[in-house]
Amino acid sequence: MRPAETPTKASTIARRGLMLVISSPSGAGKSTIARNLLEADPEMSISVSVTTRKRRPSEIDGRHYHFKSIREFEGLRQTEALLEWAEVHGNFYGTPRDAVEEAMSEGRDMLFDIDWQGAQQLQDKMSGDVVSIFILPPTMAELQSRLHRRAEDTDEVIATRLANSRAEIEHWLEYDYIVVNEDLDTAFAAVRAIVEAERLRRDRRPGLFEYVQGLLTETPKLV
Ligand code: 5GP
Repeated sequence: MRPAETPTKASTIARRGLMLVISSPSGAGKSTIARNLLEADPEMSISVSVTTRKRRPSEIDGRHYHFKSIREFEGLRQTEALLEWAEVHGNFYGTPRDAVEEAMSEGRDMLFDIDWQGAQQLQDKMSGDVVSIFILPPTMAELQSRLHRRAEDTDEVIATRLANSRAEIEHWLEYDYIVVNEDLDTAFAAVRAIVEAERLRRDRRPGLFEYVQGLLTETPKLV
């Protein structure tokens, strides 16, 4: 135990890492919110998924995704290298296990931009560490126009994504928090508030025992 003269600083109380899962239909703003969160929050890093989808012009291999062939993906799946995986919009996506296990063992927070199938699998495997947020669009018309404005996919791909978005939204009840992204700044502020509150949860902070012990044994000097 620490001597009473050098109490543990509140800012250094040890806590477990958080697995922050954010899902939404394509175009609801999830990726922008995730990107802003990574920029604003130095304690958060992102899980870079593997996918068999074709790379979009703006994407960088190894940063946005690890782009793989179907055969490579199958190899990863068979060797249990993926913590979860799913088929989404006709392509395969999966979360590499190693990076997550490393972050969790070091008490670092990780962000997962994954669909409802992945969210379910993570909840089943590590429920105590997972916090899930579902981002809803304000209207379906707005969702459609956001997909067109993004202009990174063909009309056919956009049509598939819109059709799939209803199926994705039907899973909203499986999430801890629901944020409607009508205004990006407001939605982002809500996500940050959720992260801050979840970090303060008592059951996520084993270091509190030592901290409170320190408080109770501290004998302040008379002033
Ligand atoms: P996109 O092709 O637009 O990048 O992603 C399509 C969907 O796949 C999104 O809903 C995204 O969250 C989801 N996704 C991305 N990576 C993963 C993953 O590793 N696992 C699962 N289950 N879904 C993912």
